[in-house]
Amino acid sequence: MMEQTLSIIKPDGVKKGLSGKIISIFEENGFEIKALKKVHLTKKQAEGFYCIHKERPFFNSLVAFMTEGPIMPMVLSCENAILKNRDIMGATNPKDAKDGTIRKMFAESIERNVVHGSDSLESAKFEIPYFFNVFEIL
Ligand code: ADP
Ligand code: MG
Repeated sequence: MMEQTLSIIKPDGVKKGLSGKIISIFEENGFEIKALKKVHLTKKQAEGFYCIHKERPFFNSLVAFMTEGPIMPMVLSCENAILKNRDIMGATNPKDAKDGTIRKMFAESIERNVVHGSDSLESAKFEIPYFFNVFEIL
């Protein structure tokens, strides 16, 4: 089934100049980039995006990290895009991520882990329109 998922290159990835490499990995793995932009989130915008995590002990630190510099959200499309993107990203903690995954190759820590990816159809349906309107998704 053709699906769309939200990917974000987080502030650490953008700052380290990894955006081109990461986009290449998505294209080489058969994803079509349907939308892409660079934005610098406000505290409120980051809190809203991660509202499902608001009770977690790492929430404030996560919001500070996600607002420390620009991010690059994008909409990726392919068959089973949500699960496939999660596979290519690797585990949340880079120590647990498989070889060849984006987080294994580039992430510094469980928090500064370079990329975000929607974890379910439900989250993709919330996350994609958080960043893109219907005219921006080609
Ligand atoms: P994922 O991004 O793999 O879906 P989660 O949704 O569980 O992971 O967490 C969202 C983000 O919060 C993670 O990508 C990471 O940046 C941060 N995070 C998760 N767990 C921790 C933790 N234990 N300590 C610090 N930051 C964390
Ligand atoms: Mg998640």
